[in-house]
Formats: sequence, C-alpha cells, structure tokens
Amino acid sequence: MRPLIGITTSTQVSDDPTRLGLRRYALPAYYVARIEEAGGLPVLLPNVLGEQAAGYVARLDGLVLSGGVDVEPDCYGAQPHAKLGEVDRARDKFEIAAVKAARAAGLPILAICRGMQLTNVAFGGTLVQDIPSQVEGAFQHEQHTTDIEQPGHAVSFEAGTVLHTLAGVAQTRVNSSHHQAVARMAEGFRVTAKAGDGVIEAMEHLQAPFFQCVQWHPERLVADALTRALFAAFLEAARTGPLAPAPRAAAPGTAATARATTGKARAAKAEAGKGR
Ligand code: MN
Repeated sequence: MRPLIGITTSTQVSDDPTRLGLRRYALPAYYVARIEEAGGLPVLLPNVLGEQAAGYVARLDGLVLSGGVDVEPDCYGAQPHAKLGEVDRARDKFEIAAVKAARAAGLPILAICRGMQLTNVAFGGTLVQDIPSQVEGAFQHEQHTTDIEQPGHAVSFEAGTVLHTLAGVAQTRVNSSHHQAVARMAEGFRVTAKAGDGVIEAMEHLQAPFFQCVQWHPERLVADALTRALFAAFLEAARTGPLAPAPRAAAPGTAATARATTGKARAAKAEAGKGR
C-alpha cells in the first residue's frame, strides 16, 4: 500500500475571455511525478476552509506544501511592502491550518518554496517580502533567464542537520525561483542551508520526525542526487511515521495485519486496538 501524500495547490483565476473568472486548483505536474517515483500515492488538496484541514491530515501519510504566490503579510503582522506580489488569503488560511494539524499529528512534512515561507509564518516567524530591495548584496534568486530545471546558485549546509546528511556534501547548487525568504525564523526550527548572500535556503523542525523545508524546487531538479534522497527519506518517513493512520482492519493473519507491521506506530496502534 503506497503512502497517501497530500499536496497543496494554487488557486488560479482565468483571464481567458471565454472563461473569465473561472477558478481552478492547480499544481505543476513535477510534484506529482516526484511523489509517484518515490513510491507515494499523490493526492491534490484544494484550498477548502481551514476547519477541514484536520480531516485531510487524519487520512494522509504525509503532507507536501507546494510553491506559489506570496503569503499575505497580515498573517505575520506586517504591512504590505511595495514589491509584494499576488496573495491568496484562502490558500494561506487552509495551508496554515493544514501544516499545524500535520505537525500536531506527527505527520511527515515536506515544504517547498512558498511552503517553507508559509510554514515559517504558521509557526510564528516573519518573511523578507522582497529580497532584491530588502537584502543588501543578495544574489539573483529569481531565475528569469535560466532554465529552472538547472541550478542557479550555491547553498551551504549546516553540519549535523538531516538535510546535510541526505546531501552528503558541505555545499551544492540549487535552482531558485523566489523573491521572498524567511526573515525571523519561527521557534522550534533551525537553519539547515544558506546561500552565500545570507538568504536562508532551508530549515527543519527540531523535534518532528520528518519536517524539512527548502526554499528551492527539488521537484524540478530531476537528476539531482539530493532531490532523490529528500523524496526517498520523506516517503520512508510516511511509511513508518509514528502517528500515521492505523490500518482500517487488523484481524490476525490478514494482509491488513502485515501492513500494520510495516510501521512502528501502526503496529502499536493495531496492538492497542486489540483490547477493544
Ligand atoms: Mn534561492
């Protein structure tokens, strides 16, 4: 049974005259491809009301927070900077509720680009709203002219972090498609990678079994060794997560019981369920 991996989506409003105003929930296919390759069963999550987030989390084995538009500055008590881009309040609300519920449930979480920024805001951090105008000497973090499937700038890993272990090197090159970044990091997280200009490029939760956030787009660095290692580790955590959903039926000697033993928590849950 493949772990069920929820992936958040963008709200897109059509400006095509024949479909003016038509709303869609959309996701670049790269995310789905990487989860499928790594052995997961991807499912797209629309931006429903935040109250529904816990319902998704109860059914999922892992959560991916995808890239997208800027986070509404009001979410972290800031006023909109002149260079703030498009925002999506409904998406902010749903994703903040989803990442909090996922964290509370011990679900493995992989946050990418906007997903990392959104995570930082959800847990009390703040953002740089526009790197070019707010970070002196910053590199170009928007790959306008180069192929996003190729790396754009280098990052250095912090020793002893999960990401450093997965990378197996002190430094690598990543792609970059963001004009915002983490400013004040939320409590409970630590930096795992930085660019040479000081921009925070990755962070991880200090206690969660698997909660990795990257500012770049590993889903679009298809041939990259770290991309494969990161998605593989995420799916491994989704298979064995401490609070992954219990099997639906766990009669002794059935396939469901065998499945339950693939995860420690699932086995523990099945064991606990025997007394009822
Ligand atoms: Mn960057």
